[in-house]
This record gives sequence, C-alpha cells and structure tokens, in this order.
Amino acid sequence: MSILWFIIELILVILAIDLLSGIVHWAEDTFGTEKTPVVGKWIVIPNVVHHHSPLEFTKKSWWASSWDLLLVSALGIVVAWWIGQLTWHMWLFCFIGTNANQLHKYAHLPKHKVPWIVRILQTLRILQNSKHHAQHHRGEKNSAYCVVTPYMNFVLDKLRFWRLLEKILVPIFGAPRREDIKATSEQKQ
Ligand SMILES: [Zn+2]
Ligand SMILES: [Zn+2]
Repeated sequence: MSILWFIIELILVILAIDLLSGIVHWAEDTFGTEKTPVVGKWIVIPNVVHHHSPLEFTKKSWWASSWDLLLVSALGIVVAWWIGQLTWHMWLFCFIGTNANQLHKYAHLPKHKVPWIVRILQTLRILQNSKHHAQHHRGEKNSAYCVVTPYMNFVLDKLRFWRLLEKILVPIFGAPRREDIKATSEQKQ
C-alpha cells in the first residue's frame, strides 16, 4: 500500500466517523421530547441541558459519557471480525466513535484541561476546537452537528444537508423537528 493511498484511506475513515457523529447528533436533536419513553430521559433531556448549559456534561467521567458508544463499537468490532472485515479502518472508526462524546467535551473545556495530544490535533485543525464547535450552540442549534473535525460541518452546512434530511425524514416519522427549548431547572436531573 502506498503512503498516499494510506493517507487517503485515513482521511476517509476520519470523515466517515465525523459524518456518523453528525447524523446521530442531528437525530438526537431532532426527534423525541423529554416525555418520550427511555429516549426522553436518556438522550433528549441531556441534549437540551447541554445546549443551554454546555459545561454541565464536561463534569461527567469518560465512562459516564462513553459507555453506550463503547458498547456499539464493541458490537461493530465483533460483527466485522465475524464477516472477516476487521481491518485497521474498522479499529480506527470504532476508536474515534467510542470517544466522540469525549472529543465533544474537549471542545468545551479550557485548553489547559485538554490532553496535550488532543490540543495539538485541535491546533492542527484535525480535530475541531471550541471556536468551531461554538457554532452548534448558536441560535436554533441546528447546524454544525458533527463533533470530530471542522470539515464535514463546513461541507454539510453549505449543502444545507440537515434541512434536506428533515424534509425527507420528518414526514416519514410523522413528527415535526423538535424546537430548541429552554432547559428548566427540573430537567437538570
Ligand atoms: Zn446538539
Ligand atoms: Zn456542545
């Protein structure tokens, strides 16, 4: 494998997990309400609280914000191994995917609280920094959904990709996009 091909594959894997992080985040911010069974308490309320009190979730441990992603990644690894496709691409995809919430957390923390390696990757614009992620916390919180790199957000927001997804998927699920709602104190479990 030539070094050039390796770099292209590396970039594609990182962009692919960035895109998936955006799709999952968009779905979490779009569907369901605080009252939806399971999802309401597990996903909707923490997301609403995060939009309005961004530092709240930075107090969570790695395990508290990543156990579910670890579980999904472990499942993905087992399936990839089962079908004979457990390549480095899959390991990297799952490694970044497992840490997506943690990377999101780093985009909210002051520089001195971010590990040096992540700080370097943020400075090199390989990972997104707090200035980039702040775009998601503006206005209706309906852009810049991806949490890994600054690149997918730029492309997807320019293409109005999320508005297109809403146009296609919201009528299928029969529910309007959840409006950005102010978190009330009792929602902050
Ligand atoms: Zn959000
Ligand atoms: Zn955030």
